[in-house]
Amino acid sequence: MAIYAFTCEDCGPFELWRPMTEAAAPATCPTCGASARRVFTPPGLALLAAPMRRVLDEENKSAHEPEVVTQRRGRPLPHRHEPSPPWVLSH
Ligand SMILES: [Zn+2]
Repeated sequence: MAIYAFTCEDCGPFELWRPMTEAAAPATCPTCGASARRVFTPPGLALLAAPMRRVLDEENKSAHEPEVVTQRRGRPLPHRHEPSPPWVLSH
C-alpha cells in the first residue's frame, strides 16, 4: 500500500491509501463523491496545499486590488480562476 494524493475540484485535496497497482485508477472524493484528479506530491503535503493556496489567493487579491477603497462594493465575486499549483500535472 502507498499513499496517493488527489484533488477534488470542489472540496480540495485529499489522500488515499491504495495498492500501488491501483495508483492510476480514478478516485472519488470522500466528501462529495465526485471524481478526483491525481496530484503528484510527496505524501503528507497534499493536506497542506489547501491553506497554502488560500494564502496565495489572498496575496494575489491584495496585489490586484488597490489599498485605498473609497466605497464598499458588497461581497467579492467568487474566486473562480485558480491557476493549478505547480505540482499538479494537467493532462
Ligand atoms: Zn469533493
